[in-house]
Amino acid sequence: MSVSVVPTSAKIVIIGGGVGGTSVAYHLAELGEKDVILLDRNELTSGSTFHSAGLVGQLRADPTLTLMNMHSVDLYRKLQATETPPSWRECGSIKLASTPERMQEIRRQIGWAKTFGLDLHEISPQEAQNLFPYIDLEGVVGACYMASDGQVDPSQLAMALAAGARKSGVQIFTHTRVLEIKTRDGRVSSVITDKGEIECEIVVNCGGMYAPQIGRMVDVRIPIVPMSHQYLITDNFMPLDAPFLPSLRDPDNLIYFRQEVSGLLMGGYEKNSKAWSADYNNIDNIPANFNSMLLPDDWDRFYDIAEASQKRVPKMAEVGIKNFINGPEGFTPDNEFCLGETSVGGFYVAAGFCAHGIAGAGGIGKVVAEWIVAGEPTMDLWHMDIKRFGASYESPDFTLQRITENYEQYYDIHYPGEERTSARPKFVSPVYEWHKAHGAVFGEKASWERVNYYANNKGNDALRPKGWLGKHWSSAVQIEHHATRSAAGLFDESSFAKARISGVRAAEFLNYVCANNVVKGVGKTVYTQALNSKAGIESDYTVTQTGANEFMIVTGTAFATHDFGWLEKIRRECNFDGVEITNITKELTCFAVMGPNSRAILQSLTDSDLNHNAFPFMSSQEITLADIKVRATRITYVGELGWEIYTEVTDGLVLWEKLIDAGRDLGLIPCGYRAIESLRLEKGYRAWAGEINTETNPFEAGLGFALSLKKENFHGKAAVISAKENQSRKLVAITFDDISSVPFGSEPIRIDNKIVGRVKSGGQGYTINKAIAYAYLPIEDSVPGTAVDVELFGVWCKGVIAAEPLFDATNLKIRS
Ligand SMILES: Cc1cc2nc3c(=O)[nH]c(=O)nc-3n(C[C@H](O)[C@H](O)[C@H](O)COP(=O)(O)OP(=O)(O)OC[C@H]3O[C@@H](n4cnc5c(N)ncnc54)[C@H](O)[C@@H]3O)c2cc1C
Repeated sequence: MSVSVVPTSAKIVIIGGGVGGTSVAYHLAELGEKDVILLDRNELTSGSTFHSAGLVGQLRADPTLTLMNMHSVDLYRKLQATETPPSWRECGSIKLASTPERMQEIRRQIGWAKTFGLDLHEISPQEAQNLFPYIDLEGVVGACYMASDGQVDPSQLAMALAAGARKSGVQIFTHTRVLEIKTRDGRVSSVITDKGEIECEIVVNCGGMYAPQIGRMVDVRIPIVPMSHQYLITDNFMPLDAPFLPSLRDPDNLIYFRQEVSGLLMGGYEKNSKAWSADYNNIDNIPANFNSMLLPDDWDRFYDIAEASQKRVPKMAEVGIKNFINGPEGFTPDNEFCLGETSVGGFYVAAGFCAHGIAGAGGIGKVVAEWIVAGEPTMDLWHMDIKRFGASYESPDFTLQRITENYEQYYDIHYPGEERTSARPKFVSPVYEWHKAHGAVFGEKASWERVNYYANNKGNDALRPKGWLGKHWSSAVQIEHHATRSAAGLFDESSFAKARISGVRAAEFLNYVCANNVVKGVGKTVYTQALNSKAGIESDYTVTQTGANEFMIVTGTAFATHDFGWLEKIRRECNFDGVEITNITKELTCFAVMGPNSRAILQSLTDSDLNHNAFPFMSSQEITLADIKVRATRITYVGELGWEIYTEVTDGLVLWEKLIDAGRDLGLIPCGYRAIESLRLEKGYRAWAGEINTETNPFEAGLGFALSLKKENFHGKAAVISAKENQSRKLVAITFDDISSVPFGSEPIRIDNKIVGRVKSGGQGYTINKAIAYAYLPIEDSVPGTAVDVELFGVWCKGVIAAEPLFDATNLKIRS
């Protein structure tokens, strides 16, 4: 169908005709959306897509991304059989390990692949050379091979997707530039192009590296920076009848190859990266005429890559170079895509593909189209959700520093417990200097400096996890764990995200958003989830009623934008006018005093009665502590008697020091977040983005107790009732007698030699003296006492499904 006049209205307008935009259009059409327009300011594929290298690899560290890339491969196979084939070639791929650590990583990945049914398997260096005869094996420790990976022509892929979309009714207009986007009542209402205005309900920003510019049209900051990415193509040198080569990645040497005609394409991730612009104030602005263009060759920065390529493939030193490409591509601060609905209703983004957008395009189009149609994600997309970015990414300088660090570590092994080093410190608690002076080792979460542990708390090194899982491990964590269980631990949790919800309809609003009854009277604290319409857990937090029309929500450090964004969305869509949602994270510090001696320590600083009857579990009071006005909430995330103390930031340091003094003779020590992790795993407390997320429901997660089905209505109620009746899987705890054989995530789980699931989270429990994993298993396999095997670095380790909780089953400690 050929249409030349841009319509004046459409339900959905997609901006951008690269692989991202065309794939979203294709999948929207597949879902039956008929009123969709795609606009590009130039030709289709004239952004980053046309100069892509076109490698398609499937297995990623993130299970969701792996499933998305698997969908891409299925789709590219299917498109290959159409009239507009994208030159999909299933040539397979090899990954080399040039260090022992990489080989360990590869063995872990082979384990994950089993849980997806992917055909990844270990091969010897010699087998790798048989498949790719030009490799020099010097330094190669081992390798893996996946036959179903491949390569595709990126421009043809976008054209094939566009053709499929057009066939189902999507209208595509090239040389149509979006100049402005209008909003009404917090939602998009129209886009203004150089060909006229289009009224619409939904706008999808598929602008690739141009996406930040488009975001600015509605005041939405999209943390993407165009980075220069380079590769070269050699002259043809292989015999024409030679078998087609698999793609080859040698991450330890930062390089990748694929066959191009009968030569090689070779690129890599330089350790001296370069953003396109050197002026960070304009770092994400693309010139108005930059389409179908490349950047000037930058051989100086490519030198190390070229040298590495010649060592691994000596032929590279002999053959001529036919083409050199320096193309810009949009990167994000953590090398994950930027997807989903933004803070403006109906304004979606699908951009920032970080040089794996060709591999991802099929999956990206699918999940974003589903998200648009359902109004919420249909898979756990937290790692790619634009709402993972907090306020610090408003700063271009901060964003650029993070993106630079991530680009340069693209091919590094990312060990558990690894911390980012750029752009730190950003947000600190009032006790930061005290922590530093007392040996704190900091981690960073959502730009907050948080104590991981105190290096002075030296413990037993024999418990270090096996393999490279132990690289960033510290024996201090056990000391802090045991102090909390046996006496008291003091935790600085000032970074917790906090919001005040107020207004005459605040109670009605929260009881609609939250699955539990959170309106139990002033001074009551309630643990709850907020559910989406499929009963997936959108948020997991506590709500304290602080006044007749006022509540305080406390959630995880990283979840402010996401969780408070969900509240804003429900308020907007369900017309809870007058309800105010105020982020008060930076107004209040939070210190947790946890452990059997916590009551005695706090009682020595207050006249208020802290005994069980006067101050029961899950209640909250304003009291005076060490002459400072605080809100004390009796609650725990570590499974001990304890209180969280909230006070104004200006009083934070004084209060902390008074708590330390008061606890000195009662065994209190300052502790960090790693101890919290170990303590909460033992007690079975769930973590959002750990064991629970938008695709897990409360019943399968063991959180049925935190719902109130008696309530007349709440968001997701019908779906959660159905989930209860149709439960097919269950979150289980698995323990391992060898505490240093530690599962970390995604490892395969086997019962009677059959793979039944993959690990969701794992760690060490120092009180029960076991390693712990949590996993969703089919309900029939989830019986306590069942023996399981979990594969760690290629070795099957024996564990057992254990009854939960693993510690203090009768809750005696927390209710004492
Ligand atoms: C050198 C290089 C090699 C790569 N190699 C690989 C690889 O091997 N494998 C892999 O998976 N990925 C690879 N990539 C990444 C991949 O090419 C990109 O992730 C992908 O092409 C991005 O697609 P996109 O649709 O998001 O953006 P783009 O292709 O940039 O499309 C965005 C479109 O938006 C349009 N637009 C912008 N502003 C407006 C406006 N105001 N109005 C209307 N239209 C607008 C632009 O004209 C453009 O066409 C590589 C990238 C580079 C640079």
